[in-house]
Amino acid sequence: MIIGSGPVITNDPANPFFPDGAVVVQGNSIAAVGPAAEIRASHPGQEMVDVGGRVIMAGLINAHTHAYSAYARGMAVHQPTRNFTQILENLWWRLDRLLTLQDVELNAGTTFIESIRNGVTTVFDHHSSPNAVSGSLQTMADVAGRIGIRTSLCYETSDRDGAGVLAAAIEENTSFMKMVNTDEQDMVKGLFGLHAAFTLSEESLDAACAAKEGVAGGFHVHVAEAASDEADSQAKYAKRVVQRFDDHGMLGPETIAAHCVHANPDELELLKDRDTTVVHNPHSNMSNAVGVASVVDMIERGLRVGLGTDAYTADILVSAQVAKILASHHLADPTVGFGQALQLAFVNNPKICAKYFRKDLGVLKAGAYADLITVSYRPFTPLHAESAGGHLLFGMSGSQVNDTMVNGAWVMREREILTVDEAAIFARSTQRAPHIWEQM
Ligand SMILES: [Zn+2]
Repeated sequence: MIIGSGPVITNDPANPFFPDGAVVVQGNSIAAVGPAAEIRASHPGQEMVDVGGRVIMAGLINAHTHAYSAYARGMAVHQPTRNFTQILENLWWRLDRLLTLQDVELNAGTTFIESIRNGVTTVFDHHSSPNAVSGSLQTMADVAGRIGIRTSLCYETSDRDGAGVLAAAIEENTSFMKMVNTDEQDMVKGLFGLHAAFTLSEESLDAACAAKEGVAGGFHVHVAEAASDEADSQAKYAKRVVQRFDDHGMLGPETIAAHCVHANPDELELLKDRDTTVVHNPHSNMSNAVGVASVVDMIERGLRVGLGTDAYTADILVSAQVAKILASHHLADPTVGFGQALQLAFVNNPKICAKYFRKDLGVLKAGAYADLITVSYRPFTPLHAESAGGHLLFGMSGSQVNDTMVNGAWVMREREILTVDEAAIFARSTQRAPHIWEQM
């Protein structure tokens, strides 16, 4: 299949931009990317799927989110909620306890559809449903499979619901990882999910690490999101959060440390030494008022810092813009943040994917997976290799995405989801949400 023609932002440093380009898709991979005329000439008789001059880009990657929070949109919180701990207690830990496996299925459906609509083709999710643990990851994987989105899934292990739920969470992670972290398939991968240091005792971390022994894949955990996480760690264990996780052998190239807002320079160096991924979530950090992650410093130190939305939005392009604005504002320097924001979303998120998936993602080049999008974006200033970053951060947004392809198959064409009945899934969610809101 040839897809063209239009401006192609490849995200491949060797050939970053084709003003009138096309992409050749063969099976689930990209066979060639180049000028439309050349592609046409080298593929005689092959029809071109007309994208009407839209911008063609690689599918976007969201490195940290929570589908389980889907019902929270529009929901009121009535309890006094003045800090991060109260946000967890009054909102997220009330909501996730109400979820059944049917809710897990609906939340995955609405979240993954919205991701596809925003051009996000790979989602790293961190799931929680303490009263429906067993089978929750497979339920989400089934939904992802039906919709046709690439995912990394994990279950949020913590002490807060007692020993029984803790054991079920550990079992859910390891059994799912054993099943999906194989070479045969590359659409869904498993990580070992942990909530955060302050909700996990030494015994629980030992149990999680013992269960994961010999199982392929790393951990996905919230690290030093709020100052209270570090304070708790120092008070209870006389060490900082990253040190504590390292003492359990949890850090490594396949482990994701979300947030790291309050990680100090020693902790950042340790994360770097262990080649551990950090994921920045600017919307979430600002809204929860937990502080600002030192992303510019992290990148200067050589850390692999990616970008997530933490479920505040499905629009990773807008998230990248917010990352830029936040860095400039926080450092009181308008010249910083631009390059870093682009690096988070378009360099490091693809690098994160490369730790788990066998072919390249987030780039249009021969041999990469055919995960791509077209964007209804008509620039009124020159769009070329040098200006593309500015257009990505300040001109484009997820709502302009017109078509989404994952693994060589169209999931959305002309803004219509092709694989599942979007209206029916949204209607079921809209019907169910008020019952959850009432119980909250
Ligand atoms: Zn999170």
